[in-house]
Amino acid sequence: MDPIRKALQTLLDGSPLADTRRTLTFEEFLTQLRERPSCLIRSVHQLFHDMVRHHVGDGHDEYPDDPESISFIDYDFTSLLVEDSNQPFHADRILANRLVNLAEGFRGGAQQNKVYVFNGPPGSGKSIFLNNLLHKFEMYCNSSSGCRYETVWQLDRAALGDDPARDPTEQLASLLGERKTSRLLRDLASGRGAATPHGTIEVPCPSHDSPILMIPRDQRAEFFDELFQNDEFKWNLSGGKEYEWVFRNEPCTICTSLFRALLERVKDPATIFRMIHARPYRFSRRLGEGVTVYNPGDRSPRQNAHTNAELQRQINELLRDSQAVRYVFSRYARTNNGVFALMDLKGYNKDRLHELHNIVSDGVHKVEELEERVDSLFLAVMNPEDDKNIRGFQSLKDRIEFININYVLDSKTEVAIYENIFGRHIHEAFLPRVLENFARAIIASRLSEKSPAMLDWIDDPRKYRLFCDDNLLLLKMYIYTGLIPSWLDEEDRKNFTARRRRKIIAEAETEGRKGFSGRDAIDIFQDLYGLYARDRQLITMDTLIHFFVKGQPELGKKLPKGFLDALRNQYNYQTLQEVKESLYYYNEEQISRDLQNYLFALNYELGTTAVCPYTGDRLEIDEPFLAGIEDRLLGPDVKEGRRREFRDETQRAYTSRTLTQEIMVEGKPVTSTELYQELRERYVFHLKEKVLEPFLSNANFRRALKDLGTDDFRTYDAKIQTDVRYLIANLCDHFGYNESAAREVCLYVIDHNLAEEFAG
Ligand SMILES: [Zn+2]
Repeated sequence: MDPIRKALQTLLDGSPLADTRRTLTFEEFLTQLRERPSCLIRSVHQLFHDMVRHHVGDGHDEYPDDPESISFIDYDFTSLLVEDSNQPFHADRILANRLVNLAEGFRGGAQQNKVYVFNGPPGSGKSIFLNNLLHKFEMYCNSSSGCRYETVWQLDRAALGDDPARDPTEQLASLLGERKTSRLLRDLASGRGAATPHGTIEVPCPSHDSPILMIPRDQRAEFFDELFQNDEFKWNLSGGKEYEWVFRNEPCTICTSLFRALLERVKDPATIFRMIHARPYRFSRRLGEGVTVYNPGDRSPRQNAHTNAELQRQINELLRDSQAVRYVFSRYARTNNGVFALMDLKGYNKDRLHELHNIVSDGVHKVEELEERVDSLFLAVMNPEDDKNIRGFQSLKDRIEFININYVLDSKTEVAIYENIFGRHIHEAFLPRVLENFARAIIASRLSEKSPAMLDWIDDPRKYRLFCDDNLLLLKMYIYTGLIPSWLDEEDRKNFTARRRRKIIAEAETEGRKGFSGRDAIDIFQDLYGLYARDRQLITMDTLIHFFVKGQPELGKKLPKGFLDALRNQYNYQTLQEVKESLYYYNEEQISRDLQNYLFALNYELGTTAVCPYTGDRLEIDEPFLAGIEDRLLGPDVKEGRRREFRDETQRAYTSRTLTQEIMVEGKPVTSTELYQELRERYVFHLKEKVLEPFLSNANFRRALKDLGTDDFRTYDAKIQTDVRYLIANLCDHFGYNESAAREVCLYVIDHNLAEEFAG
């Protein structure tokens, strides 16, 4: 073998496509078809649905048992639109549900004659969206899960009574010994598969017709009935709307005329089917096979009809007829069963859209005098301002389905965008929840100020003034993020019906088309972060408000009136609850000790000393010891007589029931007894009222917080040191703070006097 051929052979043998690209005989194809029919019989719409599901899965429902659920689900679009992309696109929950619904509609196969237009304002990332989507579509179609087959004819010269040696060019090529090499080169250049066996002419179907369409239409039902088992697929195939095309569609004019001409010649269908082969339908956006994307500036070639003079000549010669088969097709053929996309509806794409109109309304168009059938997924993106290019063409508009790609409306996705651009470490520069609140401020600029749907649901928004603004925008953002806040009262929760939910989500169609765009938001975030993210200094709620009010007041003016105040109010309230609960967690242990010691001590004379067997504490049992705990059980203002009475009642209950019955007979630990539980409830009730007082009014406590982590901290008395450490540890364990953030938030609560602000 000469070195060039040898080198080429290594290239081909090592090609990753070598195996998956294998061309099958029609019989082999049928074997495959029987094994996985739902995979190989798929229209491009079904394929699109499967591709979305392949990446997105079934999603996650936070409230699976909610009877009023409208299936507004948390779908993860990362794999489809973020991973392996040049520029990630983040779909918020609203868009994610919109896209899944669209894909579900495609599966049903009912409304396919449409152009699907993704309509989004500047800076919404709609072009990135379409590019990423098409990239994944192309990859899916070329993968084993997305693979479908297309028809390629291998016209057998011998079977057609033709002697290859008669062909002067073939003869010449074989004399020169270069036939294989030049064919390999040609195949490589055109991205085609392995070389054709000697003595055949390869005629690929330019419309990428599925080989099943080669079965004569009137025989298909019977044929599939024989081929497939009586299973679910067969049932769907025979009755499902999504499979109507299988029985209705004719192959392209080239395949049709080829079939007819061959039949005339050989008179034997079996011989013809031996010439029909199936090869994987390979998508290539760059080559315009399976997927084509036109930009507004792309001119179309004047000549719409494509031909292949060399192939035409060979066919004519083989059939000895120059009219039987006309190898002519349009550019739409190359994306038949694929995707035809327009990037923006202006410039030359305006004309293309009008041309598409005829194709989508009739399903066919003329190529010279031939009618070419086109089944493609027609997609486009457009700016709302380009609406003028379709306005006035009502019949065209009827054929367009708009899918809104608006600015992000859910705070979780908005934060994910910042993370993606600036890195996950940005969280470290913010106190917990402050970054989310920045995102909420950005989103607020995109919402309509008044929401009829929200007001229809909650008629008195003021009752939620601790958590929400008067326009209920914050509540709406929770809903757009898929959450039903726990602070809603019972009645509103009950009235949050499926009908109301649909109305609220429907409002999102018209929101996110004004306010800060995706690009704006990134710039604004960069300003905030660049200005205030410093070593050992966290961005607090104060920083955030200052930024919008004083730092960049022109930005603050774009937010709905009163929104920032409401945001701060909600933050303050939640933060106070966190600090309170963290103090309370600490007390839980103390409560348990106090109660066990108290129950034990009641049985001793005042003035004695004893070791409590429950806690191991050595107790000095005297009046101040018992009274100190009773203050917590009865409140500090209790009368002396009631105190005595309570002590006696409790002691009697302890000896008659708790100790003798529950602990000794039933074997319960003291903390599981009824009496203990009763006392605990009393203790917690009085404690919660007063939980912050001793800490917040103590100036030493504040100073100790400030000095935490320095040598000075050890100079405080032991009780304060312990309290501070417990508080900080609980904030870290239960609310996601780190130590410096926890310290910062405690100081925030003390310095803003929040306990007093929200008292009563
Ligand atoms: Zn065809």
